[in-house]
Amino acid sequence: MLTGKVALVTGAGRGIGREIAKILAKNGATVIVNYNGSKDSAEQVVAEIEAFGGKAEAVKGNVADEEESASMSKTILEKYQKVDILVNNAGITRDGLIMRMSDSDFDQVIDINLKGAFHMIRHLSRNFIKQKSGKIINISSVSGVMGNAGQANYAASKAGLIGLTKSVAREFASRGICVNAIAPGFIETEMTKAMPEEAKKNMGSMIPLGKMGQAKDVAELALFLAGSCSDYITGQVISVDGGLHM
Ligand code: NAP
Repeated sequence: MLTGKVALVTGAGRGIGREIAKILAKNGATVIVNYNGSKDSAEQVVAEIEAFGGKAEAVKGNVADEEESASMSKTILEKYQKVDILVNNAGITRDGLIMRMSDSDFDQVIDINLKGAFHMIRHLSRNFIKQKSGKIINISSVSGVMGNAGQANYAASKAGLIGLTKSVAREFASRGICVNAIAPGFIETEMTKAMPEEAKKNMGSMIPLGKMGQAKDVAELALFLAGSCSDYITGQVISVDGGLHM
């Protein structure tokens, strides 16, 4: 289904990014597994992909850093000549109530979650426009759609990502490039592991499907948005949240 396609997944050494990288590779794409700190995990993802006969390479790059993200994009384009699928998945949380939130906690979250996606789209935009095709998938969040107490920085970054998605979708539509966002709810990864058990239980009771999601649930949608079955879908925000937001 994705044979011959080159996909770049940011923050693909762990969690949701890891599952997205694996499912895209399983479906034939050559996958660039971007990481920032998790070198060993990223190399393990590549090994897992190669073990089932897929193609992948781990590439280091901090998406928040303008120069580093530019040189990573340049290196990838030089080696592979193109990128067909870009998944902006890299993200962090620095939760806290707004009255105690530091500038640094606000800025770090915006720099990685929102500016990181902006960097990657901008660096690869010439490539996408020239090839007149492509899929850009931004991993937003239910927090960006609904807001969340204790996550003003994170929700702002994820809501910003939705605005970025819709604007770029409009800019790129005439070239046949589709840009969509996924808004996951509560997915079991290291990001949500830190939540206290009580909070998880309360959250579970608020989710109509009654449980947290798995990274694979998000990856299945990313696969759909990366392939030709979604060619007439752009500028959308699609929830994978067990019905938390409806
Ligand atoms: P995770 O397990 O904590 O993974 C975060 C990933 O982001 C890691 O692979 C990390 O790479 C990468 N990353 C962080 N800073 C980076 C940077 N500066 N440059 C490149 N990569 C960077 O979290 P997750 O749950 O899989 O989250 C993945 C995405 O889904 C995030 O955007 C998150 O906001 C979003 N999301 C998650 C949930 C959830 O419930 N889990 C819900 C809604 C949305 P390194 O380890 O290599 O630094």
